[in-house]
Amino acid sequence: YIEKKLQIDEVDELVKIPIKDIMSPPVVVAEDVSIYKSIVTMFLEDVGTLFVINENEKLCGVISRKDLLKMSMGQNDLKRTPVSLAMTRMPNIIIATSDDSYLEATRKIVDNQIDSLPVVNEDMEVVGRFSKTNIARNLVDFLCDNMKGKGD
Ligand code: ADP
Repeated sequence: YIEKKLQIDEVDELVKIPIKDIMSPPVVVAEDVSIYKSIVTMFLEDVGTLFVINENEKLCGVISRKDLLKMSMGQNDLKRTPVSLAMTRMPNIIIATSDDSYLEATRKIVDNQIDSLPVVNEDMEVVGRFSKTNIARNLVDFLCDNMKGKGD
């Protein structure tokens, strides 16, 4: 293929992509689910972060790999300890909405040194997941599409 230089308006297009176009499905657990079950869910669903929802199906927490590792090192009964004991909870959760741009959402991840953001609607229901994987995939797809000359 022919390599071509990126044009400014192409880069402009990249940073403005709404994350609804590139986000992944969320993986959620209820707040009374055990730490043990959360670890199993993380493996089965192949994600690094689970979003925790309350009885009204609204976002109430985020639980990461290291949160679960930390709980596993103590003397806790993992099958009896609820995930709500280890999660980061509202209002400390950094969220995104589906209209956030690629640049805005990536900025939140970088500034807060986290791996992913829950994407929520106006009712605080989790509608997606935006992670470092989405960031990398979108960038690589964009560069491969735009740096190759058309018609080769
Ligand atoms: P890990 O802990 O596995 O390295 P992260 O870097 O994403 O994964 O998480 C670091 C800490 O930040 C954890 O305690 C986690 O609960 C919390 N965290 C993860 N995502 C968010 C988020 N979107 N908003 C607030 N806190 C978060």
